[in-house]
Amino acid sequence: MIDLKKFEVWFVTGSQDLYGEETLKQVAADSQEIAASLNNASQMPVRVVFKPTVKSTEEIYAICQEANVAPNCIGIITWMHTFSPAKMWINGLKILNKPVAHLHTQFNRDIPWSTIDMDYMNLHQSAHGDREFGFIMSRMRINRKVIVGHWKDSEVLDQLNAWSRAAAGWNDWQGARFVRFGDNMRFVAVTDGDKVEAELKFGFSVNTHGIGDLVAVINQIGDSEVDKLIAEYEERYALMDSLRKGGAQYSSLRDAARIELGMKSFLEAGNYKGFSDTFEDLHDMAQLPGIASQRLMNAGYGFAGEGDWKTAALVRAMKVMGSGLAGGNAFMEDYTYHFDPSNPLVLGSHMLEICESIADGKPKCEIHPLGIGGKGDPVRLVFNVAAGPALNASIVDMGNRFRMLVNEVEAVAPQHDLPKLPVARVLWKPYPDMKTGCAAWILAGGAHHTGYSQNLTSEHMQDFAEMAGIEFVKIGKETNLYQFKNELRWSEVYYQLNKS
Ligand code: MN
Repeated sequence: MIDLKKFEVWFVTGSQDLYGEETLKQVAADSQEIAASLNNASQMPVRVVFKPTVKSTEEIYAICQEANVAPNCIGIITWMHTFSPAKMWINGLKILNKPVAHLHTQFNRDIPWSTIDMDYMNLHQSAHGDREFGFIMSRMRINRKVIVGHWKDSEVLDQLNAWSRAAAGWNDWQGARFVRFGDNMRFVAVTDGDKVEAELKFGFSVNTHGIGDLVAVINQIGDSEVDKLIAEYEERYALMDSLRKGGAQYSSLRDAARIELGMKSFLEAGNYKGFSDTFEDLHDMAQLPGIASQRLMNAGYGFAGEGDWKTAALVRAMKVMGSGLAGGNAFMEDYTYHFDPSNPLVLGSHMLEICESIADGKPKCEIHPLGIGGKGDPVRLVFNVAAGPALNASIVDMGNRFRMLVNEVEAVAPQHDLPKLPVARVLWKPYPDMKTGCAAWILAGGAHHTGYSQNLTSEHMQDFAEMAGIEFVKIGKETNLYQFKNELRWSEVYYQLNKS
């Protein structure tokens, strides 16, 4: 699990010198109390750090500069306790490169009806102070999240929680390294894309290694390490008989364990946060990594098959965002449909590699032939996935921009045993309904590969997309195909005009 408590968001209160010492003392004390309360709130996944009130162009510039280079600072929460003339913010905001949550709150929840006077009004001015600040951010076209309400309001805390998690995912991408073992699956369009533009936009790099480089590391893994990992498999999973010691395919299990250890070693040595592979490029590998990819994802690595580096990076970001929450995040593929009009369903799966983090119960560890790739039978974990709200997210390269697409879905409990299906799988109903959801996804060019999440919502994904400055398209309960098509057309115009 990725520890989010190592990250900080800074609580920055804006004001000005006009008010005199006494008022500014109160502003500082109130801000400190709010920051401490947020920091102690169980909903906050990261630390909230109080910063002294900023009251001038120079102080604002200095705090933005400091935030930019502080490695643990993943974003700033801004609040104007009093009025803070926003021309003072221009120079600072021009250089700020960390995400902003504009908390439109007020120290006192209620108006003290019987005692309110002009001193009180002088101090509690965020209702108009935050509007002045909002104007300059809008004028400067800066993406940010605006959160409205009293700072003890649990909805406010939930929104800050979502934003902080998105900021952690965004921070994790900056300078992140992803490795592709082999290239893209031949002729496939959606998994490919502009890696240079991605590095400019997203901050992560994607580079390739020939399978031979990986195989060389796999071949160095000693038998005793393999023994130890097999013992872990035996304890954690229900192994099929042929994979047990003395069984006919025990050596294949050893191959799979060696592959996992080799991949892990390669990823650690290269400081990679995720990877992709492809069944078309395996050369001296004994089998396509199945259980290896499933378990490495569970350990926090991003992964996607067939060279799909965008989805691999997205799965990693989703794992960071969801860290510490119940439920998991996995690589996923829309695989097969159940078109029964009374109960339409999507069956999501992959040829092997669904992350163990979404397994319901103890996975089975099995081996079966794989129809493609021409290698030995791969070992994989087989499991069902629990019912409940979930989402699928995809990032596609539209040529002039990246688009993030999210479909909110409802996972349903397995209704049948699937005795002949040797892969992990999940059944879901897309919102708003099967036909609209699938049509909208296809019209928006959403990939067949996705990141599937049990613990993130559209709010996390939208906050994240806005930090990245990319298009965000949501398919949810309110989606209407007529409006959706227009939204896509209008966005097309927006992104043709907005070249920044
Ligand atoms: Mn695939």
